[in-house]
Amino acid sequence: MEQDIKKLISQMTLEEKASLCSGKDAWHTKSIERLGIPSIRMSDGPHGLRKADELFDKSIPATCFPTAVTLASSWDRELLERVGKAIGEECQAENVQILLGPGVNIKRSPLCGRNFEYYSEDPFLSSEMAKHFIKGVQSEGVGTSIKHFAANNQEHRRLTVDAIVDERTLREIYLASFEKAVKEAKPWTVMCSYNKVNGTYASENEFLLTQILRNEWGFEGFVVSDWGAVNDRVLGLSAGLDLQMPYDGGHGDKKIIEAVRSGKLPEEILDRAVERILKIVFRAIENKKEKATYDKEAHHKLAREVARECFVLLKNEDNILPLKKEGTIALIGAFAKKPRFQGGGSSHVNPTRVDDAVEEITKIVEGKANILYSEGYNLDSDIPDEKLIEEAKEVAKRANVVVIFAGLPERYESEGYDRPHMKMPESHNKLIEEIAQINHNLVVVLSNGSPIEMPWIEKPKAILETYLGGQAWGGAVADVLFGVANPSGKLAETFPKKLSDNPSYLFFPGEKDRAEYREGIFVGYRYYDKKEMEVLFPFGYGLSYTTFEYSDLKLDKKELTDQEILKVKIKVKNTGKVKGKEIVQLYVRDIKSSVIRPEKELKGFVKVELEPGEEKEVEFELDKRAFAYFNMDIKDWYVETGEFEILIGKSSRDIVLKDTIYVKSTVEIKRKYHKNSTIGDIIEDPYAEEIFKPVIQQIIEKSPLKDAPGDLYQMFVNMMKYMPLRGLLSFGGEQITEEMLDELIRKLNRE
Ligand code: BGC
Repeated sequence: MEQDIKKLISQMTLEEKASLCSGKDAWHTKSIERLGIPSIRMSDGPHGLRKADELFDKSIPATCFPTAVTLASSWDRELLERVGKAIGEECQAENVQILLGPGVNIKRSPLCGRNFEYYSEDPFLSSEMAKHFIKGVQSEGVGTSIKHFAANNQEHRRLTVDAIVDERTLREIYLASFEKAVKEAKPWTVMCSYNKVNGTYASENEFLLTQILRNEWGFEGFVVSDWGAVNDRVLGLSAGLDLQMPYDGGHGDKKIIEAVRSGKLPEEILDRAVERILKIVFRAIENKKEKATYDKEAHHKLAREVARECFVLLKNEDNILPLKKEGTIALIGAFAKKPRFQGGGSSHVNPTRVDDAVEEITKIVEGKANILYSEGYNLDSDIPDEKLIEEAKEVAKRANVVVIFAGLPERYESEGYDRPHMKMPESHNKLIEEIAQINHNLVVVLSNGSPIEMPWIEKPKAILETYLGGQAWGGAVADVLFGVANPSGKLAETFPKKLSDNPSYLFFPGEKDRAEYREGIFVGYRYYDKKEMEVLFPFGYGLSYTTFEYSDLKLDKKELTDQEILKVKIKVKNTGKVKGKEIVQLYVRDIKSSVIRPEKELKGFVKVELEPGEEKEVEFELDKRAFAYFNMDIKDWYVETGEFEILIGKSSRDIVLKDTIYVKSTVEIKRKYHKNSTIGDIIEDPYAEEIFKPVIQQIIEKSPLKDAPGDLYQMFVNMMKYMPLRGLLSFGGEQITEEMLDELIRKLNRE
C-alpha cells in the first residue's frame, strides 16, 4: 500500500498534490479521478452523528447519546466503547468515514462553554475515556479525530488567544489527556485547535504537531485543522498540519504551490502530507461497508441504558430515592417535558426521537401512583415567573413527593462562548427555594453540562445530577428515580462551592489574547486538595442505592524499580440490599518530592458490578508513569526515588485504604554544578557528596574548631545548607583557593 501511494504521488502534478491538502467543501476531501483517488467525508461528533450538507445546515436524524461530561461520569471503559461502536455504525450507514471527535480538552475552568463536550478535569480519566471511545468507533472501520490539539480550554477569543502554559503543565495535564488515547487507540486523525500555544498557532506548531505527536507518540494518521484554524498555510504544512478544512476558495493551495515553486517549501514536505492523507483515505474506503444500516430502536435503547449508567447521585437523605410507585408524585419544571439533553454548537445532533420525563415516569409507575405536572419556570427567561411558581406550589401541596427538574438552559452553554458565572437561572433557583418550603420530600434532578452553584443545597432530600443525558434521558431518569437502575456514576470534575474557589479564577479567560495558565499543574482536585479547601462535591464522588465496603489491600511488592509493574489488589463488597456498581479509585501520592507536586493524582480506576452480599477482588497495574512527573532538566518523565502512598478511595476525598511502596529510579540525572550551587543541593546528591565531604573535612581539620565536640561535618553542612560553593572562599580562609574550587566543581561535574 505504502509503495502504491508513493507511486501515485509520483504521478501527480504539483497542483494536484496541493489540492489534496484542503477540503472540497465543508466536509469532504478532494478526489482525483484520473488517478482513482476517492473523496471521503468527515462529520461531527462527538456524542452522535451530525451529518449536514452545509456547515450550519440541519443535520440528518441520528441517535443523540449523552455528551462527554455525562459519559465520563460513568467511568466505564466498556460503555464508552459501546457508544463509540454504535456511532461508528451510524457513520457507516450514512456514508461518513471520519467522526470529528472525541474532544479531550481538560476542564481548566468550570466556565468553558464546551465543557459539556469534554470529559474531565483529570487527564488520566479523560484519556482512558477517549481511548475506549476511539476504539469503539474505529472497530466499525470509521476513523476518529481526537480534538482540539492542544490547550483549547476556553471559547473566549478561541481563534486568536495564546495559551501560555509551562511545559511541565502541558505535559502532565493538557497533553496527557491526548497522549494515552493517541498512543493506545491510534485515532486515524488529530484535529489541531484554533488557539496559539506559547506564541505559535496550534495549526503551525511544530513542537506539538511533529515533535510530540509524531516523534514522541508515534502518531501515523493525518492532522486536520479545526474548521478555519489555518493562519499561515505554508508554515502549517511544514509544522505538520496536513489537511486544511473546510474549502477556502483555493487560497491555501495557491500558497503551497507558490512556496514550492519559489523553493521556500521543499516538495518532500508536501509529498509527506499527501501520503499521510491518502493512507487514511484508502483505509477509509477499504473499510466502507456498502448498504450498511443501523437499528434506530436498538440505538435509542442503548442511549437509555448508557444515560442511566452516567447519572451521579449527589445526595439522598432518608433514602428518599428510589421512589415508590404510590401516592401522588409531582413533577415540576419545564425540563421534565422539554429535556435539556445536549449542548450548542458543532456537536448538536438532530435526534431520532426524544423521551420526555413526564411520559416515561407515567409509564413506569403503571397507574400505581398519581402523576402531576407543573411547568414551574419559563424556559426562555431567567426571571422567575410568579404565576408559574404559584401554580407549582399548588401542585406541590397535593403531592407526597415532589421532583423538580432544573439546571442550565441550552443558551447557557455552547461552543463559541464561555459562561460568565456558575449560577443557575434565578427562575430555577427561586422555584426550588419556594417549593422546598411547601414539601420536604423534595428531589432535584439537574440537567447541565458543567458545574453549578447550589445555594439551596440543604433543602432537597435528594439531588440527581444527570448532566446532558442524550435523547433517551427521560426514560433513563424514570429508571433511576424508581430504582429500575441503581445510579453508579461519579463526578469526573469537582464542583467548587463558588466560582472564585476555582484555581484559574484569577487568570481566566486572560487579558485580550493572552491566557496565562498561572495555576500550572494545579487544575481541579489537584488544587482543591493541596489547598485543603472545602468543595461542594469532590472529584470522583457519587452515591448509590446500596453500600460498598473495601478491604484487603495487597501490593505484590514492597519495593520496585521504575521499570517494573506494581500490582495492587483490593476486595470490594456490596453490603446493601440491591445490586449496584462501584467505581474504585486509585490515587498515588509522592510522600516527599524535590519538586512541587499535587497531594495525589488519579492513576487507576475499576468499575465493578456486585449483587447484594457479593464480594469481588479488583486489580490495578501501575507502571512508571503512575509515579513520575515531567522533569524539565531531562525533558522526560522521571520517578524520584523514594516512598509513595497508594491510596484507594470511593472518591478523591474519601480514601479508605492505603499502603506505602518504595520506588527506585533507574535514571540517573547528572546535575550540573557551578560556583553558585548550594551546599544543600550538593549533599542531596550521593555522588556529589562523596567528592565534597573530604574537602570539607580537610578544611575542618585545619580550622581552630577541629577539636570541638560532635560531628563537625554534619554541623557544618546543617549550618551552611544555603551557602553557595563560592562561599567556601570567603569562609574557608586559606584552606581553599580559587584553583581548588574550580577543581572541585570539575570533579562534581565528572569532567
Ligand atoms: C469545532 C470543531 C468541529 C468543527 C466542524 C469547529 O468550529 O471547533 O469541534 O469539529 O467546527 O464542525
